[in-house]
Amino acid sequence: MYLIILGPPGAGKGTQAALIASKLNINHLSTGEILRNAVKNGTELGLKAKEIMEAGNLVSDEIMIGIIKEALATKEMKKGFILDGFPRTLVQAAELDRILDELGYKDIRVLNITIDDKELIKRMTGRGRKDDSKETVKQRLKVYKEQTAPVKEHYDKKSVVFDVYGIGNIDEINTKIYKILTDKSN
Ligand code: ADP
Repeated sequence: MYLIILGPPGAGKGTQAALIASKLNINHLSTGEILRNAVKNGTELGLKAKEIMEAGNLVSDEIMIGIIKEALATKEMKKGFILDGFPRTLVQAAELDRILDELGYKDIRVLNITIDDKELIKRMTGRGRKDDSKETVKQRLKVYKEQTAPVKEHYDKKSVVFDVYGIGNIDEINTKIYKILTDKSN
């Protein structure tokens, strides 16, 4: 199964993606995790990404596309993957279409977690992550609305999006997602 999970920051994408990946035995590819690890390890990528992330902005398309391209080209991805945090711009989405096509991946499904702004701000400021300060959260929501929300429309045009309401307990939401994914008519 080849999946993309979309939704605003704080919607629970990472949590749900990890659960789905372990349930379905597929790879969980989280660009946020990759970047946070790079920052922690002080790699070249980490040094470039640190300030950008802490300001709530996006790392360049060029860098992110390079990371994803390399990751998707590995053999282990054949068994399945869930992309979490990518694509985050229309440029990334268009490039991903091309990469998946080139690698022969078909039937990509997109989950879109929906949630309202008030709940998002409450959740994000409660996580204690470095990019979760009030100012940064505001900036991340702005960036999301301007640059990432159009990505859902990109996939809507291809009719591959399943909307999932992201408020409720983690297991309930996961059960909903799992039902959508295993429903033969989808
Ligand atoms: P959240 O889901 O809470 O927004 P992520 O862990 O997905 O957080 O991402 C954290 C940060 O990493 C983003 O705010 C951004 O700076 C950077 N980042 C992650 N993925 C991408 C991407 N595809 N393009 C650009 N920047 C990214």
